[in-house]
Amino acid sequence: MPVVELVNTIEPPQNQSPSRKGVGEGGRGGDHRTEGLDWDERRQDPAACSQAAALPWKNRSMAVHTDSHVETPEIHSTPNFLRDMIAEDVRLKRYGNAVVQTRFPPEPNGYLHIGHAKAICLDFGLADEFGGKTNLRFDDTNPEKEEQEYVDSIQKDVRWLGFDWERLCYASDYFGQLYEWAIQLVRAGKAYVDDLSADEIRQHRGTLTEPGRDSPYRNRTVEENLDLFTRMKAGEFPDGSRVLRAKIDMASPNINMRDPIMYRILHAEHHRTGNEWCIYPMYDYAHGQSDSIENVTHSMCTLEFADHRPLYRWFIEQLGIFPSQQIEFDRLNLTYTLLSKRKLLQLVREGRVNGWDDPRMPTLSGFRRRGFTPEGIRSFVTSLGATRTNGIIDFEMLEHLQRDDLNKRATRGMAVLRPLKLVIDNFPEGQTEYVEVANNPEDPAAGTRQVPFSRELYIEREDFREVPPPKYYRLSPGKEVRLRNAYFVTAHSLVKDAVGSVVEVHCTYDPASRGGNSPDGRKVKSTMHWVSAAHTISAEVRLYDKLFSNPNPLHVPEGGSFLDNLNPNSLEVVSHAKLELSLAEAKVGAPYQFERVGYFCLDPDSTAEKLVFNRTLALKDTWARIEKKAGA
Ligand code: ATP
Ligand code: MG
Repeated sequence: MPVVELVNTIEPPQNQSPSRKGVGEGGRGGDHRTEGLDWDERRQDPAACSQAAALPWKNRSMAVHTDSHVETPEIHSTPNFLRDMIAEDVRLKRYGNAVVQTRFPPEPNGYLHIGHAKAICLDFGLADEFGGKTNLRFDDTNPEKEEQEYVDSIQKDVRWLGFDWERLCYASDYFGQLYEWAIQLVRAGKAYVDDLSADEIRQHRGTLTEPGRDSPYRNRTVEENLDLFTRMKAGEFPDGSRVLRAKIDMASPNINMRDPIMYRILHAEHHRTGNEWCIYPMYDYAHGQSDSIENVTHSMCTLEFADHRPLYRWFIEQLGIFPSQQIEFDRLNLTYTLLSKRKLLQLVREGRVNGWDDPRMPTLSGFRRRGFTPEGIRSFVTSLGATRTNGIIDFEMLEHLQRDDLNKRATRGMAVLRPLKLVIDNFPEGQTEYVEVANNPEDPAAGTRQVPFSRELYIEREDFREVPPPKYYRLSPGKEVRLRNAYFVTAHSLVKDAVGSVVEVHCTYDPASRGGNSPDGRKVKSTMHWVSAAHTISAEVRLYDKLFSNPNPLHVPEGGSFLDNLNPNSLEVVSHAKLELSLAEAKVGAPYQFERVGYFCLDPDSTAEKLVFNRTLALKDTWARIEKKAGA
C-alpha cells in the first residue's frame, strides 16, 4: 500500500474539550494511510480521511488550528471528519462535477430538538460550505405516528435556526417509484412475500451469535411473489398478515442483512396520501432510495445507523441507481436532557410540561420560547464538530455559548424581582431626575436611554440584610453602596411590619456621587440595581431551571422511571416583579438583560394588561467556573 507523505500541519483532532465526557477516538491522527484504501475501508477510518483531506485544504486548516484556543470556536476550528470526507470527495471528483447534495430527513412524529439542530447544521452547513444544496425531506413512512402539526413545526424550526432548503420533499412523494423498484427486486428474485407473523419472523431472525433460519416462504416463485405483492397493494389482506422481504442472507453476521422487511400492510390513512396506500415501506428501504432519487451525495445520519449501511448499499447496488453514500456521525447527548421524541411526547401527553414549546423542553421551539438565540445554538453545535464516538456534552457548555451570544445582543434594563422599598430621606419629595444609561454596553449603536430616579425606589430584597453575614457587601445599616448609574446611598433605619419583616429601608444619598462615583475617591464594595417606585410596570416573571435534577435522567433505581428524575423546582413564578418602564416596549423574540439578574425574554402569553417574562438564563456562568477549575 503506497504511503503518502503528509504535511504535518494538522494536529490530530482533539475532541476532548473540557466539556466532552467520554472516550477519545482510538487511532485518530496516528495512522498515515490515505490512498490505496478501498472506498468503504476509508469511510470507516476517519483518521485517514481527516489527514488525506488536509492536503488540498492545508492553508485553511493551518489558519484554523492556530487559533483553536478562542473561546467561541469558529466553524473551522473544530475537528469535523464529515467536512474532511466531503472535501476529499470534491477533490477526487467522486461525483464528477455534480454539486454536494445533502438532506435533512426528520420523521414528522414530534417537534425538533437540540440534537436535530446538530444534524441540521451539519446537513445544511456543510453543503453550504461546499457550494452544495440541501433538501428538507420528511421521512413520512409511518402514518400511525405522523401529523401535519409536526410537519409545520419542523419547517418553522429549521427556518428559525437560519436555514432554507433547496427542495421540500416527502418520502411519500416516492411511494410510486419505491413500489416499482420493489417489483423490480421481486422480478429479479431479490425479494419475496412472507406469511410468517411478526413474532415468527423475530424467532427466525437468530441472534448475534446464532444465524437466522429461512422462512418456509423464502423460495416462492417469482410469479407467486408478484401475485401476492400486487394483491397486498390492492388491499386484499389484513394488517400484519404478510410482508415483503429482501432476499439477502439469513446467516449474515449483520442482523440487518437477514432478509429485512421492505413493506408492511397497514390500512391507515396517511396525512398526505390519504387512503391511496395500504402498504408502507420500511425506513431502511425508503431512506436510501429517497436519497438516490434526490441525487444525495452525502447522506449523514447518526451512529446507530452504522450497521444499516451495508443494507443501504445493497438496495442501491441491486437497483443500479444513483450511488448515494451514508456516513454516520456522533449523536448529541446532553447532561440533564432527554433527546428521545418518544419520551418528550410522553412529557407533553402526560402534562408534565406545558406543551412541546415549554421553555424547559430541549426542543427548538422550547429553546426559542425560553429566549435562546439561533446564533447561540448554531455556535454550540458547530463547536462540537463531528466524530465517530458518542459522548455526553455538559449542558453548561450550551448555556455558556448562549450567554456569550446574549451578552452581545441583549438590551439592558433594570428589574427588581422581589421588591423592597428604599426611601432616600434627603432626596426632595416629588422630584424626578433622569440618569443616562447605555442600552447595551457591548454595542454602542444601541444608544442610551433616560432612566427616572426619585425619592422612593425598589431594590432587590436579597440586596439588604439587617444583620449582614461576613463578606456581605450589599446594603445593611450603616453601609454605603452604589445604586447603579446613579448615586451612593447609606442605609440608616428600617420600618418593619407587625411580624417583624423589613418593609422599608431608609437611607441618605450623596448628591456629589451622581453617575456612580464620589469626587473624594471614596470606594464602595457593591453596586445594586433599582427602579423608581413611581415609574415601574409590574410583570410576572417565570424562572426556569433544569427539567431533570439528575445529569442522566435515565439513571433510576430498578423499577423506577425517568419521570422520577423530574426536577420539582424547574419552574418558579414571581408574580409582581417591578420593571423599568422601558421594558414595557419589550418584543417577543428579542433578548433582554435585567441587570445583575439574568437574561430574559417576553413570553407570547403576555397581554397588554399582563406582561410575562421568561428567564432565559441567570447571569452566573457555571461553565466559566468549570473551565477555570479545569485550568483551560
Ligand atoms: P427519536 O430517536 O427521538 O425518534 P430520531 O433521531 O429518530 O428521533 P429523526 O426525525 O429520524 O429522529 O431524525 C432526523 C435526523 O436527525 C436523523 O438524521 C437523525 O440521525 C438526526 N438526529 C436525531 N437525533 C439526533 C441527535 N441527538 N444528535 C444528532 N443528530 C440527531
Ligand atoms: Mg428515527
